[in-house]
Amino acid sequence: MSDRDWSAYAKSTYQWKPGHKKMLRMTKTSLTSDFDYCPKQYEYKRIHRLPEPSSDAMMKGNNVHEAIEVFYDNVPPVLDELHTLMQRNKTEEALQLALSVMPEQEYVLGEGPSIEQRIRWDLARLLAGGKENYLPVINELEIHAFVEEEFEFNGEVHTIPIHFAGSIDRGYATDEGTYALMELKTGKWVQTKNRQDEWKDSKFKLESMRQEMAFYKYLLQVADHPYQDVSHWGWVYPSGNTAKLDPLNKYGYEQRGVNKITYEPATGRTWTTFRKRVERLKAALLTAYLAEDFPTKASAGKCAWCNFKPICPSWDGSDNPQEYLDSYKED
Ligand code: SF4
Repeated sequence: MSDRDWSAYAKSTYQWKPGHKKMLRMTKTSLTSDFDYCPKQYEYKRIHRLPEPSSDAMMKGNNVHEAIEVFYDNVPPVLDELHTLMQRNKTEEALQLALSVMPEQEYVLGEGPSIEQRIRWDLARLLAGGKENYLPVINELEIHAFVEEEFEFNGEVHTIPIHFAGSIDRGYATDEGTYALMELKTGKWVQTKNRQDEWKDSKFKLESMRQEMAFYKYLLQVADHPYQDVSHWGWVYPSGNTAKLDPLNKYGYEQRGVNKITYEPATGRTWTTFRKRVERLKAALLTAYLAEDFPTKASAGKCAWCNFKPICPSWDGSDNPQEYLDSYKED
């Protein structure tokens, strides 16, 4: 990601309480990923700042994001040539030229195929849509908004200073003068086969992606940003097929991992539905802060991935962050 605006982050904290001199920080990841996943996990991670081992998946994600950001920074001088090659059906030459504008780097976590797939899709977009709106107007851009919100809790109205923040992977101008936001993900994208023998995307995954994108649109609006008129959003999963999956899911349906692009309108009922979801999540987060209560949201599947399970009260843990820290240091 581009250099972070530390002076903006210095104005807010996750350790917020009423009357704190800093604002309450609310980011796309902290709200729509961490808090939505489990408020107790959010408390451990964001408020107690308990460390977690970094994973290969995180490093791969960072490396692919950096490579694609550099690609858009460096591609303008060769854009005409790329377009001509694509028009002449010389896709492999275009791909090599596109890859040549990125710094040479040795990757060991499978980043190469993900970057290549991502660029192949982008070259197809260049051929289909032309050069005019090809380059992003947003390329890993941090957005910050500082607001005060009135919030009712226990019959009392509280004025809460909130710092909304998020880093948007890409935004493109559309031919209609609106904007389209695109998110890059390096995780798996799983489809299952239904009774009619059709491969279907996971409804849960689709809805969680829409919720993330709705946060970005909401953030642009709260920030009164010039690109706030978002008419479309989407996401790319260029490593979607790399997941090692059992042939059948836990309900006995066939499943597979696929590379996937989704692009859809972000207006009308979709926007209303997912804006409301973001607002409900925000209200639940504010309630948790004011009540000083971050409940567990346990399920065997989810908790299996949680580093804090040994101290989690839903699993007979002590709920003591120090115990986790002591054992983390020993490891
Ligand atoms: S183990 Fe489960 S319920 Fe407990 S903090 Fe982690 S995700 Fe939440």
